[in-house]
Amino acid sequence: MKIGLVDVDGHNFPNIALMKIASWHRQQGDTVEWAFAFSEYDRIYKSKVFTFTPDDMTAYQCPDIRKGGTGYDIKSQLPPEIDRHRGLAYDLYPQHRFSVQFYSRGCIRHCPFCLVHDKEGKIHAVEPMEWNPRAEWIEVLDNNFFAGPRWREAVEDLRRQHLPVKFHGVDIRIMNEEQAAALNSLRLKGYVHIAWDLPQLDLTPQLEAITKYIKPYKIACYVLVGFNSTRDQDLHRLRTLKRLGILPFVQPFRDYTNQRKPSQYEKDLGRWANRAWLFKSMDFMDYEPRKGFKCAEYFK
Ligand code: SF4
Repeated sequence: MKIGLVDVDGHNFPNIALMKIASWHRQQGDTVEWAFAFSEYDRIYKSKVFTFTPDDMTAYQCPDIRKGGTGYDIKSQLPPEIDRHRGLAYDLYPQHRFSVQFYSRGCIRHCPFCLVHDKEGKIHAVEPMEWNPRAEWIEVLDNNFFAGPRWREAVEDLRRQHLPVKFHGVDIRIMNEEQAAALNSLRLKGYVHIAWDLPQLDLTPQLEAITKYIKPYKIACYVLVGFNSTRDQDLHRLRTLKRLGILPFVQPFRDYTNQRKPSQYEKDLGRWANRAWLFKSMDFMDYEPRKGFKCAEYFK
């Protein structure tokens, strides 16, 4: 068979589903390539991760076009034989010189603004996938790494690779000293990503604890705004992070259907907080995003 692939979101980050599909089909003796409009294919796989990405409207010459990914349908799944496959066709993305890895899928939590639990269910361990032979570092994509039932084995496995590691999902609400020390024992690449999404939870003690093991400037904290938080709660979270030397990344809430638009306040808060030099040099109250308008006005 001749297989065509379409990464609808672009090629900014490797699409794991497509890399698995390509590797599995090659194992069956099929040829696989990025789909071109003027070539003929027996089957095309289109993958879209983000709802906000516009669909690809190319008229391909193919009788069997299969669409998948959260951007099309939150419940979409790979066929089981491909999902089980651990090979990844890294050659599709030669520009990305890293390995991607999952040691667990799903999550112990069911945060009201997040699709992970609906899509992947309760947290469960998964077998690691193929490494990129040309990798210069590893991107660990677990949603909640330390909630994974086999996180200790995962840390050992990462140590054996002798490469810097970048973590995407570290839940400091469950982090204990053993886990913080394990993180610190690895060569970390870029920021360790944590989140303070729910303002009702005071994460100050956990943040203070993690900064004993990991330097605060190596931590980036997502801060969800526009989802059941007051402006005072937003500012409290951001000022706490600033006091501890942790950089925030403000994310206005986006609903699954992508209908919600961030308010002007949320945009201004993001512009201030997501630029390190601005965030460090002044308080939000003194930030003047437009001539004659100071953000203190939002709190009157
Ligand atoms: S902890 Fe993170 S991954 Fe898990 S449900 Fe909440 S937001 Fe989603």
